[in-house]
Amino acid sequence: MSMLPVAPAVADSMASSSFIRKMFEKGLELKKQFGEDAVCDFSLGNPDVPPPARVREELVRLADAAVKPLGLGYCPNAGIPAVREAIAAYLSRQQETALRASDVVMTVGAAGAMVSFFRAVLEPGDEVITPAPYFVEYGSYCGHFGGVLKTVPSLPPTFDPDVDAIARAVTPKTRAIIVNSPNNPTGCIYSPDVMKRVAAIVDRVNEERAAQPGMRPLFLLSDEPYRAFAFDGAKVPPVLPLTKWACVLGSFSKTLSLAGERIGYFAASPAMPGEDMLMAAVTLTNRTLGYVNAPVIGQRLAAALLEETVDLEVYNRRRLLMAKVLSDAGVEFEMPKGAFYFFAKSPVPDDGVFVDELLKERILVVPGKGFGFAGYVRLSCSVDERIIARSADGFKRTMQRFAT
Ligand code: PLP
Repeated sequence: MSMLPVAPAVADSMASSSFIRKMFEKGLELKKQFGEDAVCDFSLGNPDVPPPARVREELVRLADAAVKPLGLGYCPNAGIPAVREAIAAYLSRQQETALRASDVVMTVGAAGAMVSFFRAVLEPGDEVITPAPYFVEYGSYCGHFGGVLKTVPSLPPTFDPDVDAIARAVTPKTRAIIVNSPNNPTGCIYSPDVMKRVAAIVDRVNEERAAQPGMRPLFLLSDEPYRAFAFDGAKVPPVLPLTKWACVLGSFSKTLSLAGERIGYFAASPAMPGEDMLMAAVTLTNRTLGYVNAPVIGQRLAAALLEETVDLEVYNRRRLLMAKVLSDAGVEFEMPKGAFYFFAKSPVPDDGVFVDELLKERILVVPGKGFGFAGYVRLSCSVDERIIARSADGFKRTMQRFAT
């Protein structure tokens, strides 16, 4: 008998490996068999809209600096001081809260920010709450440190969080409530009222905990890589003013199409008791997890392009076209106000059956159960309008098969 070469917990995760990954592999297989053009792949969230032209100019400028001594050397673990200053000013405007450079740590994407935060605050057995459906990697991000993800079903059809159920899910071991708005996978933007009510839970719990010796706080963790993706005039309310226990993390993966460059940030409310220690801890864990510091090219690019985004109108056009394709086929969905996903209702309770039927039409989508919410499928609009248009007949044929 051969020995298990990896930790059993990792072997388990590999066995239940992400549905997104599985669809990705299926997509490659189909594209090889039938050709790229014959497959409508809505499974991946890899932003395909080109970065702003200024990214090129900035890279050319950076190329000259790069060949100087230490041009691409290690930088301070929390990030290049001037970049932290620039991000603090940017977040001060966006979050309507005055931030200093010391309130910001540059990270390896939003993912690296979340992992560093969890390493800093979690003890084995601590709990993290998230509304479902949710970005599945959260489970691993907190699970690495013995944290347990507790999911609270959101309320279809809008997929607003069930705030009362979130309040009931809090225990003395709860260390964070994650909010992700605009949301992956639902595209829902949480209203100011919902956000205020979630923040009020955090404040109430922390008041109670402060009166008991040995308790640690509950944080509101706002995961915001899609903040700029808000349509139909929707506003994404700032989070830092809502509670002094708020932390915000984000990235430039989607807003500047720099996902592979791995650049993001972690920020905390300057009013948070013990915030200096939290920021020092995240700086330390960002280092000791092996990230050491966020990529220096990404830091420079992000700081230079804070006022820019990719062409969001491209995503808006895709959103409107996808809505038409789904409506024409009779697929039920709530129009997403944010991000670039649709979370559409499966015509049968088992979303896996719907996914398999769509596959027969060479349309790739991800089952909702992969996001902790069965009965739905996620479609990503990080594909060209031509592909969305081309999928129309396949959706219609699939829905007709379910109707008969
Ligand atoms: N959070 C959510 C909700 C996401 O969808 C993603 C990426 O798809 C991330 C975090 C991680 O993004 P980043 O590339 O910034 O690490």
